[in-house]
Amino acid sequence: MSTAEKPKSGLVLPGGTIGMLGSGQLGRMTTIAAKYMGYRVHVFSPDKDSPAGQVADVEIQGDYADTGALEAFAKQVDVVTLEFENLPVAALETAGRHALVHPGIATLSKTQNRSLEKNFLKQQAIPTCQFQIVRSLQDLKLAQGLLPGILKTTTDGYDGKGQIVIRDPAEIESAWQSIQTSEAILESFVEFDFEFSVVAARNSAGQFAAYPAITNEHKNQILDVSYSPSNLDAGLNDKAIEITRDIMEALDTIGVLCVEFFCCGDKILVNEIAPRPHNSGHLTIEGHVTSQFEQQVRAVCGLPLGATCQKQPVAMANLLGQHLNDGQPHWDRALSMPGVKVHLYGKAKAVADRKMGHLVALAETNAQTRADALTARELIAAGESADAGDRAVRRNVSTIVKQLFL
Ligand code: ADP
Ligand code: MG
Repeated sequence: MSTAEKPKSGLVLPGGTIGMLGSGQLGRMTTIAAKYMGYRVHVFSPDKDSPAGQVADVEIQGDYADTGALEAFAKQVDVVTLEFENLPVAALETAGRHALVHPGIATLSKTQNRSLEKNFLKQQAIPTCQFQIVRSLQDLKLAQGLLPGILKTTTDGYDGKGQIVIRDPAEIESAWQSIQTSEAILESFVEFDFEFSVVAARNSAGQFAAYPAITNEHKNQILDVSYSPSNLDAGLNDKAIEITRDIMEALDTIGVLCVEFFCCGDKILVNEIAPRPHNSGHLTIEGHVTSQFEQQVRAVCGLPLGATCQKQPVAMANLLGQHLNDGQPHWDRALSMPGVKVHLYGKAKAVADRKMGHLVALAETNAQTRADALTARELIAAGESADAGDRAVRRNVSTIVKQLFL
């Protein structure tokens, strides 16, 4: 579509073209949701045969710093969105000269830098952990009152990358040497009871819709398991949604955004903000009336948001490279559990800690969904004996039979 024909109203109807910056699994699942609704999708990233590119109409391989390539991409689409935050803000500025861009620069710039993000939370009087921005070894030594803590790079971190735990002052020097950055943030370690997230969406009309909170369990600082309903009490759930709404309104965010929280007794603290669909929200595909990916499409296209209510208890377990049994995963065993769904992202190489896919389990209770998602993951990597699988299948079938007939 030429620039002259671009929608001015902010409304991009099915049949229009969505441009996606980034091409990972979040882009893939957003693209699939967009395709269901009749949109065309063009993906732009430095990669080829990418998770999102495999399902998009057009995959463009380009550098985010290549203004000409970005302009050509943006001219072909009606609205540009993104699926990861480690993008130069200038890429959004360039795209914005030729197409609508959601989320916008304010949202991206504040959430891609931990220092700006934490200061923004402080300014908004939103509770978060104690922190100090540090630019030298000297700064870090002066901040040692915050220990034990975690030293994090302010940019480019994800899945625990760019983070070093510092337990006591004796570790300060080696931590500063190994983080290799000119600016970092030292966060005091939060002794939380559990972690949860709120995924929400906001459109150009200011309509806001949040999913109920989702409980998250991490292993080695990488999300491992999520489930919903969460174990958060109703009052704190409402408070967390209110905080999420305040953040989105302050940043004028259009699109899906996720706020990660720590729950400590009757207090909740914001951990971080992701300006896009989130790993913990994958379970909304099966568990909720509208998935976070469809919601992203609706929000960035200026459409009314879908219902966020939950249909039944649901859990999600990530599949990392190490869960795939050295390239011989037993998918059939996981799939023989009738309430389990397998999602794979089309990544060619299984590398340790790389997100290759995820499993979703639907059942009657949280305890059951969580157990089933973990059993399915074990079965994928289990040795020759499928006894555990047989037991899990029998139990799952009897649960479903009970749901149908009792
Ligand atoms: P990432 O961008 O890698 O997700 P996070 O800041 O969310 O970075 O850190 C990953 C995980 O590490 C968190 O979900 C939490 O489990 C743990 N973590 C991070 N910061 C803290 C903190 N200040 N106190 C306690 N745990 C933390
Ligand atoms: Mg995080």
